[in-house]
Amino acid sequence: MRLFTVGPVMMFPEVLEASGRQLPYFRTEEFSKMMLESESMLKGLLGAGPDYRTAFLTASGTGAMEAAVAGLFSASDRLLVVAGGGFGRRFGEICDVHGISHDDIVLPFGKKLEASDLDPFRDEEYAGLLVNMDETSTGQLYDIRMLSDFCRSKGTLLVVDAISAFLADPIDMRRDGIDVLITSSQKALSLAPGISIVVLSRDAYEGRLLRNDSHLYYLDLKRHIKDQERGQTPFTPAVGTLIELNVALRSIRDAGIDDVVARTARLAAYFRKGAAERGIRMPDYPLSNAVTPLIFDSGAYGVFERLRKEYGVTVTPSGGDLRDRLLRVGHMGNLSEEDYDVLFKALDDVLGRRFWML
Ligand SMILES: *Cc1c(COP(=O)(O)O)cnc(C)c1O
Repeated sequence: MRLFTVGPVMMFPEVLEASGRQLPYFRTEEFSKMMLESESMLKGLLGAGPDYRTAFLTASGTGAMEAAVAGLFSASDRLLVVAGGGFGRRFGEICDVHGISHDDIVLPFGKKLEASDLDPFRDEEYAGLLVNMDETSTGQLYDIRMLSDFCRSKGTLLVVDAISAFLADPIDMRRDGIDVLITSSQKALSLAPGISIVVLSRDAYEGRLLRNDSHLYYLDLKRHIKDQERGQTPFTPAVGTLIELNVALRSIRDAGIDDVVARTARLAAYFRKGAAERGIRMPDYPLSNAVTPLIFDSGAYGVFERLRKEYGVTVTPSGGDLRDRLLRVGHMGNLSEEDYDVLFKALDDVLGRRFWML
């Protein structure tokens, strides 16, 4: 089985080994120590200062998106949302459920986010800007520095969903002016699903989170952050995934995050070169290293099914309007150039002469 998906992804041997063991009880000093170590390693990898706060939620990435939006903002706030695909629209839907008004920067498929897209919103006031650094549904990598300059000039909080960008693309919270960052266990961290993480700058924590009355119980970031001060969580966490997280963070720290990002970038470049040689169409907008979208005139979903059933390789299908037009090939996790050679062979078989018609 080979997964070129965007989560879960192929896992690394040291994580697989850790995940096969009996789980320990977690209200212990040892567990707390591990959690504090994980927090400190994570902050180091993210360019977050020691005064930044971290919440480890037992939830999928969407749970962390909701915890951040509903925890930081209220119905009296107005937000700006980059709606360039399914995950951007999800931010808007979360705002709607919580009665938070928002303006959307709507990008039709294929459109690059540019400074001029911000122009209509420059004179408006926004409490926060919500963006998915890599909009995984299209693979577009947004220019976070451009967005953080926009936010800084207006005193707007920048909330970045880096769920698929963390470890795939360079990120540094302080350098890039990111106030709140969200990530999740099953993407480039290459762990089991179950843990999502929210990291907040001191300003976001003290200036916004502590002052906002959220109507959340399980997903209340204040509670999670308070308990994490002593390495604990308010409720039973996904203990196994947190242990895997500690193992993975150590190995990323030891390898060096720049090397980890460079490795993903190398795999993405290898695949994109081979796809271009085969005449497969890819978008013109800037791409994250996490995933490569392949554009079809039609029949994309059928290609996904044949690859999986006949060749044992799973790429990522798309939903909604893009179901038959877009496949996405992931570069996160334990993959090598040889794995892409296997994928190319399968693609050559399945697409056959169709290449030359695309
Ligand atoms: C995967 C992903 C999510 C979260 O999806 P879940 O299924 O809730 O884990 C959110 N945003 C982006 C950009 C993602 O890639």
